[in-house]
Amino acid sequence: MIDTRALELLRVIGENIAGKTGEEFFRHAVREIASALDATYAFASRFNHSEHSAKVIAYWAGDHYEPFDDYLLDGTPCALVSDGHVAVFRDNLGEQFPIDKEWFEKLGVKSYLAIPVRTEDGNVCGHLAVMAKDNRDWQEADLDILRLFSLRAAGELERGEWEARLERKNQEFSAANDRLRLEILDRLRIESDLADAKIAAEAANLAKSTFLGNMSHELRTPLNGILGYVQLLLRDPETTASQRESLEVMRRSGQHLHELINEVLDLTKIEAGRSELRPAVTQLFDHLGNVVDVARVRAQDAGLSFGYEREPQVPSVVNVDAKALRQVLINLIGNAIKFTPRGGAVSLRVGGSPVDRDHFRLELEVEDSGIGIPQADLQEIFEPFYRVTNSGHTSEGTGLGLAISRRLVKQMGGEITVNSRVAEGSCFKIDIIIECGTSACATAPTATPEFIIGYTGGRRRILIVDDDIVSRDLLAKLLSSLGFVCRVAADGAEAISIMSQVAFDLVVTDLEMPVLCGRELLLKARAQNFNMPILAISASTSMGDCGHAVAEGFSDFLVKPWDVDQLLRSIASGLGLIWQYRAAAPENWPAAQPTNHPVVKMRSEFTRLLYHHAMSGDVNALMEALNDAHSGAEAALADEIRRLAKGYDLRAVRNVLEPLLGESPSLLPIR
Ligand code: ADP
Repeated sequence: MIDTRALELLRVIGENIAGKTGEEFFRHAVREIASALDATYAFASRFNHSEHSAKVIAYWAGDHYEPFDDYLLDGTPCALVSDGHVAVFRDNLGEQFPIDKEWFEKLGVKSYLAIPVRTEDGNVCGHLAVMAKDNRDWQEADLDILRLFSLRAAGELERGEWEARLERKNQEFSAANDRLRLEILDRLRIESDLADAKIAAEAANLAKSTFLGNMSHELRTPLNGILGYVQLLLRDPETTASQRESLEVMRRSGQHLHELINEVLDLTKIEAGRSELRPAVTQLFDHLGNVVDVARVRAQDAGLSFGYEREPQVPSVVNVDAKALRQVLINLIGNAIKFTPRGGAVSLRVGGSPVDRDHFRLELEVEDSGIGIPQADLQEIFEPFYRVTNSGHTSEGTGLGLAISRRLVKQMGGEITVNSRVAEGSCFKIDIIIECGTSACATAPTATPEFIIGYTGGRRRILIVDDDIVSRDLLAKLLSSLGFVCRVAADGAEAISIMSQVAFDLVVTDLEMPVLCGRELLLKARAQNFNMPILAISASTSMGDCGHAVAEGFSDFLVKPWDVDQLLRSIASGLGLIWQYRAAAPENWPAAQPTNHPVVKMRSEFTRLLYHHAMSGDVNALMEALNDAHSGAEAALADEIRRLAKGYDLRAVRNVLEPLLGESPSLLPIR
């Protein structure tokens, strides 16, 4: 029992330590305990059960605090307490615990009292102990005092434990924070590097586009001169058949070069996201027929058969960007041919179904029996520069064709899909909804320009403005030969000055010129009330399409190298002209229209061979084959074909041969 004096003492002690926490609490506690129990020494510890040791939190040594090393419990009176017992030793402490005998003697300690400190769930976490220099008959009241302190001590020990844990967690947290900060810094640095790289790449891309644009301009200008003069010479009745043959080669090579320049530009535009579609009313079958012609020749060269099927419900006149459609088909068919070993087959199928009165779902399938594409690569092949490398098949290519094709088909509002099996073949399918047109809207076949010799009505005056002397003279020669009165100027300023002296019916102007460019010329002319049509021609494609030019006020826009047919059509529409045609082509001129030959009997193998050479554009082989004609009707027809072939008019040759083939030429397998 605690007597009144003791209770009073406890109240005072309680007040002294009420506001203390942590180590401070223990320091006050041991001091108060020592004083309350009249013992010289008092200490409080935390047990480390796994190491069987104690860590002293506070130690009061009679009149001062002393540091106390951690100690092992074995052989000490504290070991009993760590096992959960109250330890009461009244005397002879040194004799009972020989390990500490020396120390007890040094301190003069004879008796010992300690109780375990337990957590809320009853586990022993530390102890409170007092040591006295006299033999002491410890009382229950002494134990009660220790018990009272032990409750707070348990709370403080647990709190300390939680604080230590919290501290550890805080340290972990702050280490994680530091790592995160470093990662964020790293990330920011990478992002900034990426942004720099992107800016650099965009600048490089812009520089590349500008370079390609300029290059294309620089290439187009001389090409315009070459192709223009070739066309002029082809129109000249004095040109002999053999010269015409060479000129045709020059024309086709020039056109090929022109196509290459355009493809490079297309690529640049697509990469820069600047390619625009130009849908127009198109004779679909004529258009596909041209693609098939090219494909058939290529397939034959590669030792493949080529099939072409079209379903009857497909409309013949549609509104589509024919150039883009051709580009996609040529690419798909080109790939099919490239990736199919000799002896295989490639085909183009055209089908689909009507969506409503004005729209048709057009389905185009390019199928081959080639090497196929592994499943894992099927999506990837549409990515720019992706090529299947482990197919065991090497081929030339850039890996851009499918990326461009998919982009173009997407722009047309459609999609392109593929099915393929390795070693069996592939089938690429294009699915587009197209607007149906009416035949009336489709561009009427125009008279072949070689036959235009002039125009009806009074003589018209044309002012030609171009700083490139070759282009200027070429136009002047061509137009003068058709009866126009031509004047030339080297820039817009000179043009304005000539226009103020002479009235013109039409101005044909280049766009990029020194002093005063084509656009400035247009503005100045209109400001001075010169209201004649002004036709723009440029080697630069910066104008985009003729829609832009017309919106700016030009009557039309042509890109160099221009085509005579196109140019004359544009001039005629600007001036409201009616052309006069030559009544008949001179002897050595190519026939422009199919000749109506009576259908004569010709051996079918022979016909096929001739047709094949005509399709391949191989005039020499065609001429040689013609020598094998049998006498009679076949020889007469061969003479006619020879005449056409000499004039390099292979289209006319095909027109003669096609009715003799007996079946649709496009379905003929080529061996
Ligand atoms: P390129 O033909 O210039 O390599 P493409 O973009 O047209 O570029 O094609 C990408 C790749 O897709 C080709 O390199 C080829 O590996 C694969 N591929 C395309 N078409 C076929 C096909 N018909 N058969 C097999 N592989 C094909």
